[in-house]
Amino acid sequence: MTSPIRTERHDNVLVVISDNPPVNALGQAVRAGLKDAIEEALSDDAVEAVVIRCDGQTFFAGADITEFGKPPVGPNLPETLDAMEASDKPVVAAIHGTALGGGCEVALACHYRVAVPSAKLGLPEIKLGLIPGAAGTQRLPRLVGAEAALPLVVGGNPIPAKKAEAIGLVDALVGADSLEADAIAFAKSKIGQPVPRSSEGKANEDGVRDPDLFDRFRASQARKIRGFDAPNAAIAAVKAAGELSYEDGVKKERELFMELMSGTQSAAMRHYFFAERAANKIDDVPKDTPLIPIKKVGVIGAGTMGGGIAMNFLSAGIPVTIIEMAQDALDRGTGVMRKNYENTAKKGRMTGEQVEQAMGLLTPTLSYDDLADCDLVIEAVFENMDVKKEVFAKLDSVVKQGAILASNTSYLDVDEIATATKRPGYVVGLHFFSPANIMKLLEVVRGKETRHDVLATVMKLAKKIGKVAAVSGVCPGFIGNRMLSKRQEQANALIMEGANYWDVDDVLLDFGFPMGPFQMGDLAGIDIGWHRDPSKVTTIREALCAAGRFGQKNGKGFYDYDEARNRTPSDEVKQIIADFAAREGKEQRDISKDEIRERLLYPMVNEGAKILEEGMAQRASDIDVVWINGYGWPLYTGGPMFWAQTIGLDTVVAGLERYDLPVSAHLRSAAGGSGKFA
Ligand code: NAD
Repeated sequence: MTSPIRTERHDNVLVVISDNPPVNALGQAVRAGLKDAIEEALSDDAVEAVVIRCDGQTFFAGADITEFGKPPVGPNLPETLDAMEASDKPVVAAIHGTALGGGCEVALACHYRVAVPSAKLGLPEIKLGLIPGAAGTQRLPRLVGAEAALPLVVGGNPIPAKKAEAIGLVDALVGADSLEADAIAFAKSKIGQPVPRSSEGKANEDGVRDPDLFDRFRASQARKIRGFDAPNAAIAAVKAAGELSYEDGVKKERELFMELMSGTQSAAMRHYFFAERAANKIDDVPKDTPLIPIKKVGVIGAGTMGGGIAMNFLSAGIPVTIIEMAQDALDRGTGVMRKNYENTAKKGRMTGEQVEQAMGLLTPTLSYDDLADCDLVIEAVFENMDVKKEVFAKLDSVVKQGAILASNTSYLDVDEIATATKRPGYVVGLHFFSPANIMKLLEVVRGKETRHDVLATVMKLAKKIGKVAAVSGVCPGFIGNRMLSKRQEQANALIMEGANYWDVDDVLLDFGFPMGPFQMGDLAGIDIGWHRDPSKVTTIREALCAAGRFGQKNGKGFYDYDEARNRTPSDEVKQIIADFAAREGKEQRDISKDEIRERLLYPMVNEGAKILEEGMAQRASDIDVVWINGYGWPLYTGGPMFWAQTIGLDTVVAGLERYDLPVSAHLRSAAGGSGKFA
C-alpha cells in the first residue's frame, strides 16, 4: 500500500504532504508516514527546515474515529508529535481548511504555524465526551495561556485563523493561494534560530498567577456543562498545565483521557455522533435521487410555529411568502419575527444589516394566490383535521404542480391530510419544534405515498437550514410526541398516587433534562387548548385554569413564580391534586424517586421498541436523535434507546413488570437476545 504521506524538496526545505481524503484523518498510515518524514529530514544534512501541509480540502481534521475502540497500532499520535517537536530544524505547519482535534495537536507540536485566512483551528474532542489525547491540553495553554486555552478545550468550537493569530496560536496569516510558497519562505526565515517548542512555553503562568480564573470560567459555563464529565476533566487538564511539569501534565492528561474514554458518557456521545449522520439517510431512497429545487417557500399561519418556521428559511437566504387569515394576525406574526431577529442582533449574533436582509426576503400576504409559484409550502395552522384538509385542498388548487406540500402537524394523520389533494406523493410532514427558529430537530413524516424525490429534497433542505432531521412513519404523535405521551401518562398517574409533582420534575432535572413535565406545562401555558369554562372541571389542568393558574405567564401555574421566575411548589395546587385523587378514590402513598424515574422513562423505551417493531422509525438511533434534539434528553446518555441498552434491556423489562406496565414483544425479545435494539 502506498503511504498517504509523500515528501518534496524545495531547496533546503523538506515539504511533507498528506494526501488522505476526504479530511486527512490521522490514521495509522498517516502517523507512520509523518514520523518517517521527520526522520528523513533529520538524517539529511541538506534539509534545514520542514513544512507540513495537506492536499485536498483541509489540513488534518482529526483522529481516525474508526480506530476508536480497536487495538492501537503504532506509532501513536503523541510519540509522532514528540518526534516532530524534538527536531532542531524548524518545523512549520501550513494550515488550510480545518485543523481539528489531532490535526490541531499536530500544529501545536510544530514549531510554527502559518494559516490561510479562511482556515479554522479547534479541539472538538469535548463533543465526543473526551479531551485531547495527544498533549493538546498541555501544549496549548503553554503556548497561548490558560485563559485563551479554556474556551477552545472546553467549548470545542473551532476559531478562525485571525482569532488564532490574535491569541498566538497562529504565527502568521499567509496568502489564500500561496500557502505552500509562503510557508516555505517562512520556514527559511527561521533557519538557524533556536526552535520554539510549545511544550516549553510559559504562557500558562496566567493560571498560576490567577488560579480563580478556572472557577470563573466553570461558573460562566455552568448551564452548558451541567451533567457532563468531560468539561471538568478538560478544565482540570488545562489547570494541570500550570501546576505540573510538562511530562507530569501529559501523564495527567492521559489519565483523564483514559477515564473518559472508558466511561459511559463518551460511548454515548460517540454513539450520537454516528446516529446523527445515520438519521439523515433513508434506506430505500437512493443517494442519487434527483432533488427538487427549493427557491421559494410558502408558510401558512403566522402563529407560534409559522413565524419560527419562516425564520429558518429567511436566515438561510430563501424567500418566504407567509399567509394569514386576517391583517392583524399577519402584522402580529411578522412583528414577532422582526423582534426575534432584533433581539439576536442585540446579543451581537447578527448585524442590523442582516436583520433587514432576512426581513427583506419576507412577503406577508392574505391571498393564497401568492403561493402559486412556491416550491415548498409548509402549513402551520390550527391542529384540526378539517381545517388542515381545507387548507390542503386550497393549496392543491393554487400551488404549481411539482411543488411540495408539507404539514407541521404534531399528531394528525399525514396520509389523511394528503387525501385532500390530487398529489399525495408530494405531501410530507415537516414537524418543527418550538421555538422553531431555534430547536434543532425536524421530524420528517413520511406518508405512505410520499415520493423519493420529495423525501430526498426535504432531508437536504433540513441540513441547509441547520436542522437535524429524522424520519418517522405516520402514527399518532410520530416518534417524539408518541413517546412523550407515555411519559406524561405516568407523570399524571404518579401525582394522583401521591408523588409530589415537584419530585417528578426534579427527577427529570437530575437525570439531565432541562425541565420536567409540570415546569414545561407552566412554561408553555396551562390554558393552551382550555375550553375557558371554569365550571367544567374534569382534569387537574382544568382545575388549575379554573383557579386562574395559567402558568408562568401570570406568575402561577403548578408552581408559584417570583419576579426572577424562580418556582416554589404551591399549597393551593397540592390541595387541588389531593382533592382530585380523593374524588377518584386514589390511595395516596410515598413514592420514591427511583420509582418515579423508572415509571417515567421505561415506558418511553417500551414505546420506542414498538415504534421500531412497526417500522415507524428506521433505526433505534433515529429515536435517540429525535429525543436529544427535540426534547432535551441528555446527550451524555446517548438518547432513550442507547441509554436503555447501557442500563440493560432486561433491567427495563423487569422494571416495567414490577410496576405492572406493558412490555412489548420487541423489547422482550431484544432483552432476551443480544440486549440491543437491531
Ligand atoms: P397558533 O395558533 O399559534 O398559530 C396558528 C395560526 O394559523 C394562527 O395565527 C391562525 O390565525 C392561522 N391560521 C389558521 N387557519 C388559517 C388558514 N386557513 N389560513 C391562514 N392562516 C390560518 O398555533 P401553533 O402553535 O403555531 O401551531 C400550528 C401547528 O403547528 C399545529 O398543527 C400544531 O400542532 C403544530 N405544532 C405546534 C407546536 C407548538 O409547540 N406550538 C410544535 C410543533 C407543531
